[in-house]
Amino acid sequence: MIDSHCHIQFNAYKDDADEVIKRCREKNVTMNCVGSQRDTSVRAVEYAEKYDSIFATVGLHPVHISSTEVDEEEIRFQSREEGFDYEFYKKLASHPKVIGIGECGLELFHLPPNINREEVITKQTVGFMAQYNLAKELRLPMVIHVRDAHQEMIELLSVIARSEGRATKQSLKIKITAPHHHGECSTIAGVVHCFTGNWQFAQEYLKLGLYIGFTGVITFPAKKTDPKSQEELLEVVKNCPRDRILIETDAPYLAPQAYRGKRCEPWMVVEVAKKIAEIRGLSLEEVVKLTEENTRRLFYKINI
Ligand SMILES: [Zn+2]
Repeated sequence: MIDSHCHIQFNAYKDDADEVIKRCREKNVTMNCVGSQRDTSVRAVEYAEKYDSIFATVGLHPVHISSTEVDEEEIRFQSREEGFDYEFYKKLASHPKVIGIGECGLELFHLPPNINREEVITKQTVGFMAQYNLAKELRLPMVIHVRDAHQEMIELLSVIARSEGRATKQSLKIKITAPHHHGECSTIAGVVHCFTGNWQFAQEYLKLGLYIGFTGVITFPAKKTDPKSQEELLEVVKNCPRDRILIETDAPYLAPQAYRGKRCEPWMVVEVAKKIAEIRGLSLEEVVKLTEENTRRLFYKINI
């Protein structure tokens, strides 16, 4: 089984990461360890170097593009403002065990004080575009984070897809094939990770060629204050084409319902697979198999 998105390099595991990784190995769980800024990206690569069962994704999370106080159920920190240093990340991402770029995207849930929404969107868009360019240059898939910003992200991705389409047509006209594209159609390769939106948004991402990543959130009971959002999310789990589903934990966050309140660990990803099996009327083995095939197709550098 592959946990397509976790943060085993985060401080939550600073005392016992080796034991957690051992538990994952015993349960045959391979991990994509995702960076959120410079230091966590460097550490992701270090873990990937040290362990066969860990691969790394490097990039800059939108929450770190401005300095913000993040205060949630399991976590409280002050994000540190950082610009995207293209050459730094390019060097890091050239490592054979780096399989993706991210997590990058738009985050409008944690808005920094004293700066307006439009400015935040502009800054995060610049960060995202730089990472898109890097992903394209290195032919790596993107790990996309979207929170309270589906409309904005879909617009941004559509603009990219349209301009890529034009660029492809132009290059065909003058008979130049970019070495990175080998003539294939240039849709955006990536996953919208920890998807919690509705089917309408999901369909837009699917049309753009993206995969949808589900976390333990799909195992949560509906919120009394907002039962509709869980219903809508489960509709996505039910309808998503089977060749576009990924499973992930986003550990240390979002422990599945069976372990709610505990620190999440990557092996708990089986709970996400179980829930998908239940909703889609499949066996657990089938879900494990299809999500693993999907993960390997997208993150094609996974070689174990
Ligand atoms: Zn994450």
